Amino acid sequence: MIHENLAEVEKRIEEACKRAGRERSEVTLIAVSKTKPVEDIKEAMDYGMVEFGENKVQEIMDKYEAIPEKLNWHMIGHLQRNKVKYIVDKVCLIHSVDSYRLALQISQDAQKKNTICPILIEVNVAEEDTKYGVTVNEAETLVREIAELPNVKIKGLMTIAPFVGDPEENRVHFKSLKNLLVDIKRKNIDNVDMEILSMGMTGDYEVAIEEGATMVRVGTGIFGKRNYNIGV
Ligand SMILES: *Cc1c(COP(=O)(O)O)cnc(C)c1O
Repeated sequence: MIHENLAEVEKRIEEACKRAGRERSEVTLIAVSKTKPVEDIKEAMDYGMVEFGENKVQEIMDKYEAIPEKLNWHMIGHLQRNKVKYIVDKVCLIHSVDSYRLALQISQDAQKKNTICPILIEVNVAEEDTKYGVTVNEAETLVREIAELPNVKIKGLMTIAPFVGDPEENRVHFKSLKNLLVDIKRKNIDNVDMEILSMGMTGDYEVAIEEGATMVRVGTGIFGKRNYNIGV
């Protein structure tokens, strides 16, 4: 089933790229494997996937241990400062940075491991109370503060759009994140690359690609529904 799902998602990504006049190579598909067992990840690996997204530190550590192959792990969930040290040298990108305090911790822990950790700034474009992330207005100030830290590198922006019935409802939010990316990029801030736009999930990744997403995070569309009562 996972192979069929991946083929379907791949086809839709290609079509969305075509509609937007973009190259398929401009968009990275991240398979969001949270709550799913290692066997499912192996199936996706058989298909050729190497980019995987997780939202819990413990789960990244367990899966990192269980799978000897080199994969690109993306931390996409809310991150507590006391847990940064466990994953800072295991993940290729932390998508969910929304405070200076968290970025400082990442920089300090990355320094101890002699590495530089690539991060995205999480923006709550729709200003939902239930979501993490800075507002569009706060983003540039936070980017400028974090840019001063030696062992993190800002690579772009991420958002989790509202849960909606019709993906078209999120187009406005994807547009606003893209505009913000372009605005900040124009400022040419030292130590900041505004290249990655991580937006779009199972329900709305095609619209996100049409609006400029360079990373889409697809879970259900690849692995099927999640059961939160069952562990890894
Ligand atoms: C779970 C999750 C996803 C994937 O959600 P689906 O709707 O299953 O595709 C994407 N991004 C984040 C941050 C998530 O937590």
